[in-house]
Amino acid sequence: MAKRIQFSRTGGSEVLEWVDVTPAEPGPGEVRVANRAVGLNFIDIYFRTGLYPAPSLPSGLGTEAAGVVDAVGEGVTRLEVGDRVAYAQGPLGAYAERHTLPAAKVVKLPDSIDFETAAASMLKGLTVQYLMRQTHALKGGETILWHAAAGGVGSIACQWARALGVRLIGTVSSPEKAALAERNGAWATIDYTREDVVERVRELTGGEMCDVVYDSVGKDTWETSLDCLKPRSLMVSFGNASGPVEGVNLGILNQKGSLFTTRPSLNGYADTPERLAMMADDLFAMLESGKVKVDVSHRYPLAEAGEAQDALQGRRTTGSTILVP
Ligand code: NDP
Repeated sequence: MAKRIQFSRTGGSEVLEWVDVTPAEPGPGEVRVANRAVGLNFIDIYFRTGLYPAPSLPSGLGTEAAGVVDAVGEGVTRLEVGDRVAYAQGPLGAYAERHTLPAAKVVKLPDSIDFETAAASMLKGLTVQYLMRQTHALKGGETILWHAAAGGVGSIACQWARALGVRLIGTVSSPEKAALAERNGAWATIDYTREDVVERVRELTGGEMCDVVYDSVGKDTWETSLDCLKPRSLMVSFGNASGPVEGVNLGILNQKGSLFTTRPSLNGYADTPERLAMMADDLFAMLESGKVKVDVSHRYPLAEAGEAQDALQGRRTTGSTILVP
């Protein structure tokens, strides 16, 4: 037997249950991982609340963890029992002592990267990798706006931007979060609880505005974000922390300056083992170089995942949070 978090109905964190299960034996092409550290992500809240539908209920939760392979299914040649691994995709169920998933979604960890660092950075760091290196290949000297710059994804983004020579303007909701984002390499910060974001971006850029806006807040910031862009530049909407952007009239992209927009996801970029390996190599190289350091700011026992989710949803966390099985 092993423990996992599951939910049988959608709702608040009270729907999460800590239960005994028999871990699945890996089928063909699958491996089972004994998790040592589990990552907490906003997407877990989208599944728990039903914004993103789980394939069936009751359902496991979570997609990111690091640990040791403890069983291997038929036909898996790339991984063996005892390998140190991490993953950020695949079926829901990473909030567990053991999780069975396709080997194609699992990467081997370099010896230099410990389990907590991996669980704190796989999903968030691979996201920054594709957003900054693929959705738009950022070049030194460009200016970007990044919402939630002191959060999990945001903390990695600030450091990666500094490494690329990109001027990242980060939005935050408190002076403490502003200080953290600046320590991580944000070129400037805007406290949106006290300052007008569009006006501050105008001042900071001398009226030029931004080459790209990366917006994971969604509903509350969509229009503000469009107003922070240069003509013919790119709006990247990649999350829904305040709710999804819905009912968009495409004409607004014309009105705001012939803008481009995209709504990307990690699964859309890391969609083959080869692409996942390329992205993970890039992330691991950034971690090994020390250009990106992952701040594990909060640790909770896995059994208390609901409290951890409430803190994330309530804007009380900075950096990455780890759940310990
Ligand atoms: P964060 O640690 O960034 O937490 C979310 C932050 O968003 C909060 O700390 C808060 O920062 C800000 N925020 C603004 N408005 C709200 C609101 N109404 N409710 C809650 N928070 C709000 O989380 P993650 O690092 O886990 O994820 C960041 C975002 O990136 C999420 O939206 C997530 O869905 C998205 N994401 C998208 C991926 C993709 O591939 N598309 C992959 C990974 C993440 P502040 O107090 O400073 O405003």
